[in-house]
Amino acid sequence: MLLRQLRETMAEPLASQARLDKIVGLIADNMRADVCSFYVLRDDGALELFATRGLDAKSVHLTTLRLGEGLVGLIAAEAEPLSLDDATSHPSFAYRPETGEEKYNAFLGVPVLRAGQTLGVLVVQNADRRHYGEEETEAMLTTATILAEMIATSDFVNLIKPGSDIDLRRPRMFNGVSFTDGIALGKVVLHDPRVVVTNFIAEDTEAEKQRLDSALASMRVSIDAMLDHGDMQPTSDHREILETYRMFANDRGWVNRLMEAIDNGLSAEAAVERVQNDTRARMLRQTDPYIRDRLHDLDDLANRLLRVLTSAGQPAHHELPDNAILVARNMGPAELLEYDRKKLRGVVLEEGGATAHVAIVVRSLGLVAVGQAQSIVSVSETGDDIIIDGTAGVVHLRPTRDVEQTYVDKVRISARRRAHFAALRSRPSVTKDGVAITMLHNSGLVADLPMLNETGAAGVGLFRTELQFMIASRLPRMQEQADLYTQAMQIVGDRPLVFRLLDIGGDKVLPYLRATAEENPAMGYRSIRLGLDRPGLLRTQIRALLLAARGRPLKILVPMVTETFEFLQTKQVIAKEIERLKRSGHPVPSTLEIGAMVEVPSLLFELDQLLPEADFVSIGSNDLVQFLTAADRANPRVSKAYDPIALPRLRAIRLVVDAANRHGKPVTMCGELAGKPIEALALMAIGMTRLSMGPASIGPIKEMILNLELKPIQDEISQALSVGANGNSVRDLLHRWIEKQNLPIG
Ligand code: PEP
Ligand code: MG
Repeated sequence: MLLRQLRETMAEPLASQARLDKIVGLIADNMRADVCSFYVLRDDGALELFATRGLDAKSVHLTTLRLGEGLVGLIAAEAEPLSLDDATSHPSFAYRPETGEEKYNAFLGVPVLRAGQTLGVLVVQNADRRHYGEEETEAMLTTATILAEMIATSDFVNLIKPGSDIDLRRPRMFNGVSFTDGIALGKVVLHDPRVVVTNFIAEDTEAEKQRLDSALASMRVSIDAMLDHGDMQPTSDHREILETYRMFANDRGWVNRLMEAIDNGLSAEAAVERVQNDTRARMLRQTDPYIRDRLHDLDDLANRLLRVLTSAGQPAHHELPDNAILVARNMGPAELLEYDRKKLRGVVLEEGGATAHVAIVVRSLGLVAVGQAQSIVSVSETGDDIIIDGTAGVVHLRPTRDVEQTYVDKVRISARRRAHFAALRSRPSVTKDGVAITMLHNSGLVADLPMLNETGAAGVGLFRTELQFMIASRLPRMQEQADLYTQAMQIVGDRPLVFRLLDIGGDKVLPYLRATAEENPAMGYRSIRLGLDRPGLLRTQIRALLLAARGRPLKILVPMVTETFEFLQTKQVIAKEIERLKRSGHPVPSTLEIGAMVEVPSLLFELDQLLPEADFVSIGSNDLVQFLTAADRANPRVSKAYDPIALPRLRAIRLVVDAANRHGKPVTMCGELAGKPIEALALMAIGMTRLSMGPASIGPIKEMILNLELKPIQDEISQALSVGANGNSVRDLLHRWIEKQNLPIG
């Protein structure tokens, strides 16, 4: 009844204020309350009285309370309802003489929430001592769901204090971690868009309950099916999430709350939204990461349920605005590659670490990205303006005009910086004291190879072949692979190009390749382990590479070598394929070099057996550091505790450099360390002279090299490696040198 009256009032041709006045009147009558007041949260953090029945009408748009101030401010700040028999005796009660409020004792206030965000507060009061119970609270929360929708969709500009806006549209800033340098201005595209509920009010409560029941049933069936058939990403995480979904989907408390919201007059989908609001509000305020994750799972589940109820299906990802900036809780590299790359400018994630594979793909696509932007998904809407400052790891959502202008200027300056770096393109990368450093690209898509001409890098130190496999919708055939490698070789020309054999598994999932769930995918059935176990896949790729090279030099890199025998077996597979080619009269590569990735710690203790067999080695610091420290590279909660250039890690890397020198074999760093100025400096300081990095890092690192006097830094770091650094970190030592030599570091 009340909800229906509200709906009718919203449809009536009334001015905004008259409509609000009527609404508070209806709520007061319905709740048999003397007072009903509606406060809206402004962008300056004040709660403004927007309408009242019962308090002095003159106080409307005059009375304000700050967040946390008074009972209303408390409800808004905590996003929790509050029911009191005697409000005036509550320690937070803030008396506002203009309202005439002192007469009222019984008090019930509820937050007006949308996607967990507080938009305002709805209050009823009575002069008599009276107790507002749970049922009334529930009814008020239901009413508040409708008011939230009204705030979000109506135009209050003519009501609110001039110059202010409602809080919902407030500019927000997020401090995250940088995935890439650079700045991007664009429009939000939610990777997992919220389902928009349009039908709020139940025509027939029983029918709505049945709809909810059958939606729940079909959702449970689909979760069970996913779990039973293993039809999911083969990561244990994914399984855990599904198990949690199953638990929530069968949770009576959750289901009861949904049913109760329908009993109060909401449609099934509005009931889900109403209950989801509580989850989101708790999520936004929760600091325990474990609980927050579970709340996220519950929120995801509610989204699934909404999709079933509104038949929204899976969101379509393909129509992007120009300058699209993806905002997501998290995303795998394969999902990212599904988007139209021409329109994508950047990515913002709530999770993710800088060496997660998605971050690597982001870099290889030349996108600007920031991770760890907490809670950004709940407060963003598709179409919002957004700026990513990748360099600072900061995101501005709905930026003010000033902020926007600052960034427009910064972009102009960074264009100038790019021009400056471009001018360094043809200068040899040699330090001031004459150490030549070979700078190479990390790459993974044919589309990023032409960037070599812009950066002037010497070649490609790491071509991650799996990225092409990840964009494909099915396993690329041999000829398709060969065509692609031919194209890559043509673009790179005479410069060196190192093809790394497929490094799939872990979080690099090929959707068309069935895999079984594993407890520890990063340490599981991946990379060359999978290649040797399924030699068909490996042979096809090797054949394609050999065919593409026809008469040209070819360099092949073997990933995730744990023991020398794996490297030898791979070499045998390659040798057999060469024999086959020769027999069938095909041209073979003019020269062939085969190298091993050093990224599994065990190999550090077998370098003298490996190196005589290898033509070169390449260090994968992303995996090496994750395994050395037993800290998941994709989980910053653990990985950020361990500096990758702390002495123990540098000693490990130095083992490889020394061994390679002993055996006269080239060693390259191709992990993310090489692309960061201080880290690159640490690597040069321990004798590395070949650095492979994302194309965007070439300019800044080269500029540092051109200004660098390396010898004294090498001496100091050598000393530190053998006898320690007197309690200083390597990073501290390097910072001092940077200051002393006035080195530009990006
Ligand atoms: C590494 O592990 O450092 C590396 C270069 O390989 P990837 O990041 O592709 O695992
Ligand atoms: Mg690796």
